[in-house]
Amino acid sequence: MKFYKVLEQKLKARNTSLKNFYDSANPVEKRILEEYGAIFVASEKVKIPPAVIFSNEDEVAEFQAGLQIAKENIGGFELELQKAAMKALTESIREAEAENLTITPRGADSARRNFAHTINLWASRVEPALEHWTKEGKLTFVEAEKLRALSPLEQVPEVFKLEEKGVFFSKDLSKSIVYSVAPPGASQHLSLLAFDVAEFRNARVREILAANSWFQTVVSDHPHFTYLGVNESELEDSGLKKVENRSQTFWIPDI
Ligand SMILES: [Zn+2]
Repeated sequence: MKFYKVLEQKLKARNTSLKNFYDSANPVEKRILEEYGAIFVASEKVKIPPAVIFSNEDEVAEFQAGLQIAKENIGGFELELQKAAMKALTESIREAEAENLTITPRGADSARRNFAHTINLWASRVEPALEHWTKEGKLTFVEAEKLRALSPLEQVPEVFKLEEKGVFFSKDLSKSIVYSVAPPGASQHLSLLAFDVAEFRNARVREILAANSWFQTVVSDHPHFTYLGVNESELEDSGLKKVENRSQTFWIPDI
């Protein structure tokens, strides 16, 4: 419950009410807040989205246009993040280099994304999963076609319902799609506060990133780091709790 208390205070400071920010009666929004919510209690050094889920490209564009953005070439890719996040990332990279380590992006889309890209990523998981589960006999052809006919935003609650029955949509089909890609409009990358790290398996790299306020905040999305702008010792007071997954530490909403 602590998380909601902190969130409410943070939103108040930003002149947003919890009611405008989040519809607790909407199961998709509730799930997104539980899984990806750490970003919403980030420090005042950065801006957070006006709602749990962006509903279209215009909303994303308007939010991103109001950000202070820094651009850097990292590992051969031109990447954009909110200024404070980029500063902390380049500092992490410098510290890693001093220890002969590298911190590089997994790909060209490791930092900033737009709404259309989150739609494409969503589709890239949904279609193979539909083919697989139809072949396995877990879904009928008609059920799969029905899902295909929906818009990506309409697909989200239906995919969540299927996952409750063990029909999973992550890339390896073993877990929920939310640990593989974000539903359209829900990605932390839209906020320019997330960075997918190639060297996430290196414990020292994770330590350096954490010392610079970059934390893993989506359980079982191991390469995904989020800039929260606070020290690790302040995370509990920020409404987050520590969870271990495959010997890695994640900070998620304490709900
Ligand atoms: Zn990511």
